[in-house]
Amino acid sequence: MNNNNNLSGETIKSLRSLLSSPKNILLTTHKSPDGDAIGSSLGLYHYLKNMGHVVTVSVPDDMPGFLNWMTGSEDILVFEKSRKKFEQLLDKAEIVFALDYNHFMRTGIEMEPLLSSSNALKIMIDHHQSPDDFMKYCIWDVMASSTAQLVWDFIVALSGKGAIDKTIGENLYTGIMTDTGSFRFTTCTAHTLRITADLLDIGVRGDLIHQKVYDQNSIDRIHLMGYALEKIVLMPEYQTAYISLSKEELKKFNYKPGDTEGLVNKVLSVKGVNVAALITQKENQIRLSLRSAGDFSVNQFSRTYFNGGGHEHAAGGILNMDLDDALKYFEEAVKKGYK
Ligand code: 5GP
Ligand code: MN
Repeated sequence: MNNNNNLSGETIKSLRSLLSSPKNILLTTHKSPDGDAIGSSLGLYHYLKNMGHVVTVSVPDDMPGFLNWMTGSEDILVFEKSRKKFEQLLDKAEIVFALDYNHFMRTGIEMEPLLSSSNALKIMIDHHQSPDDFMKYCIWDVMASSTAQLVWDFIVALSGKGAIDKTIGENLYTGIMTDTGSFRFTTCTAHTLRITADLLDIGVRGDLIHQKVYDQNSIDRIHLMGYALEKIVLMPEYQTAYISLSKEELKKFNYKPGDTEGLVNKVLSVKGVNVAALITQKENQIRLSLRSAGDFSVNQFSRTYFNGGGHEHAAGGILNMDLDDALKYFEEAVKKGYK
């Protein structure tokens, strides 16, 4: 598949015609939704609603509390809590959007078979590597800073900049800001910043959004951060470092979704560290969150050892074993995989 956003004349023409009459539309995103998953979904939701469509945003599991101020978040359907309702909406849906993911497995083992067997027309908007081919339309670019940026491109190609109001803009800004590490990463290009400038021009308050996302921490979360940072394990000969957190440790700090967000980047910030991992024990699975600097691909590393994937410098994966075994397995994988 070629690496551009596929918003060429023909695609846009047929998408415009597809969306020219009201449709039942279901928006879906990946498990453990982050700022880009929610921001891109809600941005697109408001746009499609403004066009007269009947739209629902769904997420596989709960979103982090630091995003619940976002306009439209109160209408989001949580699959884990409302499975029946999700199934009804999926049955009725004429169009399903897949946002910020490109394999149905990323929605979890419960939701995956439902989406795979749905007859709705599927449109993917995403910026992760190695997409599946489940969709009729694919707006995909691994060079894009965020899915929110691709949603901007999508809306502008369909309806022009005038269709992006402040509410849509705030949601897209949140997606771009969170996926670029507040406009720091290499994926944050001149195009990204021009979009951001346009968003500021229509009244989006970047400063307030930053505050809402990053400066509303519970004291439990800050204590958890402090505790976790004390636990960093260094593997100096492999320029690698990691933190592990067991179920019990997370419980002790009243863990809520999103509480460990950003922690793995702190591990990567240690001088001399090029590969960082956060290894957390969830209900009956181990979650790995991986980051790298330089030319080590954590996407490849995660595909090889952790049943996962993502981007060159940010990826995630899953292990089905207990925490002690996972830590041993991780250290072995580093020894084998780090060159
Ligand atoms: P995070 O560490 O922030 O959860 O995820 C980092 C990146 O890796 C994100 O772009 C995310 O979509 C991707 N990612 C996280 N977990 C998984 C996973 O289990 N499988 C795949 N394929 N990608 C993942
Ligand atoms: Mn993203």
